Amino acid sequence: MPQEMHIKPERARQLLENLKYVADQVAAANKSQRQIRLIAVSKLHPASTILALHNPASLDPSSLPASVPPAHFHFGENYLQELQQKADILPKTIRWHFIGGLQSNKARPLAESVESLWCVSSVDSAKKADGLEKGRRALVERLASEKDEKSGEEDKEKTDLDKLRVHVQVNTSGEAAKSGVEPADTAALCRHIRDNCPHLQLLGLMTIGAIARSQSAKDGEENADFVCLRETRDRVAQELGVPEGELELSMGMSADFEEAIRQGSGEVRVGSTIFGQRPPKGEAKVLDDVEEGKD
Ligand SMILES: *Cc1c(COP(=O)(O)O)cnc(C)c1O
Repeated sequence: MPQEMHIKPERARQLLENLKYVADQVAAANKSQRQIRLIAVSKLHPASTILALHNPASLDPSSLPASVPPAHFHFGENYLQELQQKADILPKTIRWHFIGGLQSNKARPLAESVESLWCVSSVDSAKKADGLEKGRRALVERLASEKDEKSGEEDKEKTDLDKLRVHVQVNTSGEAAKSGVEPADTAALCRHIRDNCPHLQLLGLMTIGAIARSQSAKDGEENADFVCLRETRDRVAQELGVPEGELELSMGMSADFEEAIRQGSGEVRVGSTIFGQRPPKGEAKVLDDVEEGKD
């Protein structure tokens, strides 16, 4: 392991405990025993923290409880360059989720450069979908030609790249500053992806939602953003002629993931409850400093 990926045993232990705590809360809120994917949102945290959760067996045994915890696979990132750097140095077995605001001109490089990209959750225009489609196609073709050059049979699985999964991000709160497609325009974008983007697979819909709504929902009301996303999903399913269950909902973050699960979420994206507070963007580092004279 590179020295910059070293992690203090106390920090590793705390991360593993936090992840277990959140996973237990997810299971407790999940009364109907659905499959719920937990994304550990690692943006602005160093690669060493991701490796600790993905490969606990690699840690100093003093970081670990009596039995080695299971590997965590799904991690979420918001910034293209940071994701590229992390994907480069971390194991290819990690399933990366791009959940941040996506610029149209970054869609293609994102899909083309990150082989282990598992899902992009912030698609809110046909232009971004088309960029991802072009990038994924280019990646598939590049891997196929690399395989031809080697013409090795044993290399076959390398080209069996999945389609790139996507969520369409919906602006459920009506705030002008929020990204996301309007609920009324969501079905058209979903149809565009299904009909024109053969290298993409539409997994479902995603929302971030307004903080105020997640707070008022604490007083026993349903969160209006989550209601809106579910209703939008039901309409999209009807317009596309697919069962509702085929389109999942990605909703819920640290502050409101339990409520989101009660309202039907199939994927929660939890950052600060697992990793703690994020450093300011300008101070974040992918690799930790190696302090002179220390181990
Ligand atoms: C940062 C982020 C999260 C995680 O937020 P926390 O409040 O730290 O859990 C989830 N979803 C998106 C889209 C994010 O940008």
